[in-house]
Amino acid sequence: MITERLSNRLKAVASFVEEGAVVADIGSDHAYLPCYLLKTGKIKQAIAGEVAKGPYDSAMKNVLKEGLADSITVRLADGLFAVEVNDLVDTITIAGMGGTLITTILENGKSQLESIKRIIVQPNIQSSVIRKWAVFNGWKIVSEQILKEDDKIYEILNMEKGSSSYDETEILLGPFLCLEKSVVFREKWEREIVEWHRVLLSIEDAEETDDIRKKKNQLKSQIDLVREVLAI
Ligand code: SAM
Repeated sequence: MITERLSNRLKAVASFVEEGAVVADIGSDHAYLPCYLLKTGKIKQAIAGEVAKGPYDSAMKNVLKEGLADSITVRLADGLFAVEVNDLVDTITIAGMGGTLITTILENGKSQLESIKRIIVQPNIQSSVIRKWAVFNGWKIVSEQILKEDDKIYEILNMEKGSSSYDETEILLGPFLCLEKSVVFREKWEREIVEWHRVLLSIEDAEETDDIRKKKNQLKSQIDLVREVLAI
């Protein structure tokens, strides 16, 4: 049963979905998230969108196996083009991809977002790109979560329509996450600092071109910014 083996990461994404929402899960390899939402009774209708044939077939297989074919429509489509007007979708979930790909999907499918009330995203990396996109496209972050599973750390952003403005720290670290400063948050950014130092060391002796100088300055200022927030 999908309800029993769903990852904590996807359960956390599911927790942001409102009761009775109509959800389109984009990049719905296996359709685990929509199946879980239906099986737990949180929602009654969903779309599972997939751009690749293999994951689309897996999604279709699971939906049929779980007996949910009347409630979940599986579509082979690029990004938000899996959503049709008659679906009455009000919530988009996009999980398990990089922040840049998620932003591209949102940007390319802007016209599909008019009737959408909530976007829940779980980027594996580069959440900052999505926060910037939100500011420039009339979305605000209403809550965030950070969690660790199998030694990987994940962030979840829950967004609603509305104007927003975030400073550099909030864009990088998350406006709610950087106030909360949880144990997992600290671990994530301590890991990042170690990684940024490793990159700095690897380019230390490189020829000082404009790009290298820019990269060094960017890394140093990110390290300073994060250290200040973590007070280390
Ligand atoms: N959402 C699931 C999760 O979090 O476990 C699956 C994540 S999987 C790593 C990413 C999925 O997104 C892949 O199945 C991939 O084919 C799909 N994908 C990537 N770009 C897409 C796009 N533009 N439109 C729809 N699906 C896409």
